[in-house]
Amino acid sequence: MDGQCQAITKGGTRCRGQARASGFCFSHDPVLREARHTGAAMGGRNRSTEARVSRLVPSHLRPSVEKVLAAIDEVHDGTLEPRQGTAMASLLSAAGRAYEVAVLEQRLEALEQRVAHGQQPSGDAEGVVQGDRA
Ligand SMILES: [Zn+2]
Repeated sequence: MDGQCQAITKGGTRCRGQARASGFCFSHDPVLREARHTGAAMGGRNRSTEARVSRLVPSHLRPSVEKVLAAIDEVHDGTLEPRQGTAMASLLSAAGRAYEVAVLEQRLEALEQRVAHGQQPSGDAEGVVQGDRA
């Protein structure tokens, strides 16, 4: 046992994951796989988590987030170069920061307008930006 996962990936190479006692990594361990399938069947917990996450992510960032999430598995499987995964992650991170700044600017602008009109900058100020109005 060399500590490397025994699974063969879609790309035909050995999985680079760290093997557990079973000889497979977390992703490829048949026992864990079974448990995940059962869990998914019992009330579709994974599905609903996925849906919750995708509601939280603004719609124009969603495709990129999904690509990066898929890339995590691909890097783990050895079907994607870790370098590419790193590049994708930093691009998404940059896009996320740009989005954050845009949202904050929008909120600040709304607050400034309220102040300029003599309104209290409180109350439903949080409702000014609804995050996902694509
Ligand atoms: Zn593996």
